[in-house]
This record gives sequence, C-alpha cells and structure tokens, in this order.
Amino acid sequence: MKQKALIDCPACGNSLSKSASTCPKCGHPMDQANYPMLIAKYVLAFLGLMVLISLFAQASHR
Ligand SMILES: [Zn+2]
Repeated sequence: MKQKALIDCPACGNSLSKSASTCPKCGHPMDQANYPMLIAKYVLAFLGLMVLISLFAQASHR
C-alpha cells in the first residue's frame, strides 16, 4: 500500500494528509503551507507602516 505524505497534528497527534488545511479530528488549523504568506503579510504591513511614518515625518517637517 502506497503511503501518502502524512503529518501529525500538533494539537491531538492525529495523522492527517499534508494537503489538509485543518485536522479532521480536532479542527486544528494546519498553517505550515501558508506560514511564508503570513510572514510576507507582516513584512508588507511593516513596510507600509514605515512609508506612512516617513510621509508623516516629511509633512510635519515643513
Ligand atoms: Zn488534531
């Protein structure tokens, strides 16, 4: 029998498919796939904040 790629749920230890977005047993979200996306979102938010701060700094400097 061919084994599918399985990972263990960090919450309940249930074996589930790597492609599952949530654990079918306990519903724990499997976010290993979108973890880089989460970092990218934080970086983008941080860069946007820096741009806003520099714009405010320039506006108040005049
Ligand atoms: Zn689980």
